[in-house]
Amino acid sequence: MSHSTTWLASCEIVVLTTMLTNVSTAVDSTPANADTRARAFINHHEAEVRPLEIAVNLAWWKANTTGNDEDFAAKEEAQNKLDGALSNPERFAELKALRDSELSDPLMARQIAVLYLMYLEKQVPSKLLQQITAKANEIEKAFNVYRAKVGDRELTDSEVRKVLSDSQDSSERKTVWEASKRVGPVVAADLKDLVRLRNDVARHLGFKNYHVLQLHINEQSQDSVLELFDELDELTRAPFEAAKAEIDAKLAADYHIPSVELRPWHYHDPFFQEAPSVFGTNLDAAFEKLRKDEIPKLCAKFYEGIDLPVADVLQRSDLYERHGKSPHAFCTDIDREGDVRVLANIVANEYWMSTMLHELGHAVYSSKTIPSEMPYVLRTDAHILATEGVAMMFERFAKSGDWLVAMGVEVPDVEAYNKAGARMRRDQLLIFSRWCQVMLRFEKALYEDPAQDLNSLWWDLVEKYQGLTRPEGRNAPDYASKIHIVSAPAYYHNYMLGQLFACQVHRTIARDVLHANDWPSAYYVKDPGVGRFMRERVFAPGRSLNWNDLTRHATGEPLKAQAFAEEFAGKADKP
Ligand SMILES: [Zn+2]
Repeated sequence: MSHSTTWLASCEIVVLTTMLTNVSTAVDSTPANADTRARAFINHHEAEVRPLEIAVNLAWWKANTTGNDEDFAAKEEAQNKLDGALSNPERFAELKALRDSELSDPLMARQIAVLYLMYLEKQVPSKLLQQITAKANEIEKAFNVYRAKVGDRELTDSEVRKVLSDSQDSSERKTVWEASKRVGPVVAADLKDLVRLRNDVARHLGFKNYHVLQLHINEQSQDSVLELFDELDELTRAPFEAAKAEIDAKLAADYHIPSVELRPWHYHDPFFQEAPSVFGTNLDAAFEKLRKDEIPKLCAKFYEGIDLPVADVLQRSDLYERHGKSPHAFCTDIDREGDVRVLANIVANEYWMSTMLHELGHAVYSSKTIPSEMPYVLRTDAHILATEGVAMMFERFAKSGDWLVAMGVEVPDVEAYNKAGARMRRDQLLIFSRWCQVMLRFEKALYEDPAQDLNSLWWDLVEKYQGLTRPEGRNAPDYASKIHIVSAPAYYHNYMLGQLFACQVHRTIARDVLHANDWPSAYYVKDPGVGRFMRERVFAPGRSLNWNDLTRHATGEPLKAQAFAEEFAGKADKP
């Protein structure tokens, strides 16, 4: 996860405010040309919104490190102030006029385009916005208090997951899986209301539906995203089917049933979005001898070696478990002036090695490396998929025994580690890619027509893309048991696009910097050429390029599914 915003020293605020006063007068009284008005708008934005963004980031950091109610209240208040500034209709009208005018400076035009989308999202009648927030909160609350009930026993989420990962008893698995889905009927009607309200917002802003609007705000179109997903579907179908056949054979043997009798509850999580852990691969053995503080040290050494140092980031970070603190991991650019921090809960195992490489990947793609000459509005990642992609590109090395050895870690059996790591990576990514197909296509259809038979549509997609068999006679709103559909609408596909970006950039580095033959297994240790490549080809443009132009700038090609598929094609029988 990544999150970003900005800082301004107080003396600079004074200067900008003064400038702003002068310029605003000019805008109000004379038909100043578009360039002057655009500059004034941007100055005003920096003076007013930049401090609010920094305040949000600091409040966000504090709430997540303490877990205190008052800190969470302060975080919400800071967010409301920022939203208030961005929802100003007069400012938006000016922005719209500027977006439609000819600006002589492309960098300025780009800033106006980025700001336009940022403000557009907030131009919603406040009554409608309140209804949406209330409805979404109601559903999220229902999710939070929901417990899967089996007999008179209530199971927490992790108890459900434990049964699905450990139980050998098909009927116990089925009972628990069905119980976990019963949150669907509890929230389905509210979710449909929420979808209709979100569609009202979209139509109010002149869009066909909310899915189209969300993609537009993120500089994407349904057509281009679907085209990529169709390509991905085509290229991953055969390797996915081969990998799934191996997994199914193992699962069927575990439960003593024929493969054709496998149903959704036989996989290890409620949606088959993760690879079931059936091959007894234990990568953690390589980390048993390490202390937990050796994980960030290894990361520091790695990033230093490729000339993207992160020692300052680690210094400001909050890295270990503590009561009240968020149990997750994230990276935040507090001020777009280099104050970049990571929150983590490190223990010495493969998961945290991978997660720290990931979060520090976000950290190096930030105001630490984007040139300070880049205007504030553009001094951030090009797109969520680009920063997730960079983070995922670096995270891959946690599964490479060769990389660990090159970093000085004692790995008991390197060959075995490489093999197990590659298989895990392959299974995880192929399975996740098929699950993302379901999410994207379902959400698109949901916003196009919330009144259609969504229960059937969900299982049609699950069967088609994930290769699961729907339970006989099942007619329930199982889609509504996935909280992301409520809380992060029309967003999930970006994780997949990030993986495509990660593979495409890694392949380019392997070819152009490392001159490696077998690019999927290529790794970087002590190669400053990698840092140079990342700075010039990926980081330097900041948000001055959109995600697809950045992909072209970095790799010479638009974003494609090809590199991702190439890594897994034909490898199903020899991971
Ligand atoms: Zn991330």
